[in-house]
Parts: sequence; structure tokens; C-alpha cells
Amino acid sequence: MIRVFAWVLRFVNNCHKDYNKYKEHELSVAEVENSEKQLIRLTQTYYLPDVESFKFVTFIDNDNILRVKSKITERNDESSFFCPILLPDKREFTKLFIRSIHKKNCHAGIQIMQSLIRKRFWIIRDRKTLKSILNDCVICARFKVKSQSSGPSPLPSYRVTDCAIFEVVGIDLAGLLFLKTGEKVWITLFT
Ligand SMILES: [Zn+2]
Repeated sequence: MIRVFAWVLRFVNNCHKDYNKYKEHELSVAEVENSEKQLIRLTQTYYLPDVESFKFVTFIDNDNILRVKSKITERNDESSFFCPILLPDKREFTKLFIRSIHKKNCHAGIQIMQSLIRKRFWIIRDRKTLKSILNDCVICARFKVKSQSSGPSPLPSYRVTDCAIFEVVGIDLAGLLFLKTGEKVWITLFT
């Protein structure tokens, strides 16, 4: 989605009359990053209009992106970790973003996904959102499914009918064993 939107932005840019700004060839890293920022801004503008209602402290950074001010600001780490980008739950951008992280990390489970996403983003009700998206993953569902098993079959009649000793005999064989003399022997057990 980010790359597609980056191509759209490239097209819009190239439609301008200023030929100095004309771009061609593959997308640059800056264009992809700009596309991601624009998509985040759009998502936040549409789906997070009421910032005051949140229990956590938020602020707008230099790129006009809404971020959460976490309690670990004194930690020596990347700024995106202690001030993650706020994203709404159950919105298409968030869903696509979660799915891409899930695929890139070999269909990781909820806890791994939470820690991976938390490095940069703060998704509202993240665990619930992750659970619903991961439950829809067809590949994960295929690996989680239990193999079919049949119930216990009834014992044959000769094992459940009263009879005289050694009237019905079962044989178990154990071996090969070696005697001290070097001879080979087998154990036969009649039950
Ligand atoms: Zn999966």
C-alpha cells in the first residue's frame, strides 16, 4: 500500500509543469518514507480526530504526525520507541500494516507482533486488534488446525469372551539378543 501510494505521489509530482521536479526510474527511499508519513497523517486525521479523549499524553511532531508520549522517555533509545506513532484500531491502513509485519516475520504470534510493532507504533487496543487480524490469517489457521483422529475401536470378540487358559494365545517377540557364548537368541512370550 505504501509503495502504491508512493507511485501515486510520483504521478502527481510528475503532472506538475515544473520539469525540474520531474522524477523517473525506481522509487527512492525518501519517496517511500514520505508516502508512509502521508498515509499515517491521513489515517490519523480521519480516524483520530478527538485526541483529548485518550488516557495517554499525545503530541504532534515536526512531521505533523501524532505521537504518544510514553513513560520511558528517559531511556537511551530511538525516539520512535519512547514516542511511538499513534494508530487507530480496525482501520484498513492499520490492518495492512499488521499483516505486512506478520508476513515479514514468518507469521509471528501475538506477543512477538506486539513487541515488533511497539518499536515504532502505538495501536489502540493493540492486543484485540492483533488477535482479530491473526485469526483471519489462512496460513496460520492451516498450521494451527488439529489433525483428525478416530475414536477407539472395539476389541475383537476373542479378547473379550471368557475362555480357558491358553485357549486364545497371543505371541510377542523380543530380540535379537546375544548370549555370553555369542549365540543369537530371541524371546517369545505367549500370553
Ligand atoms: Zn499468519
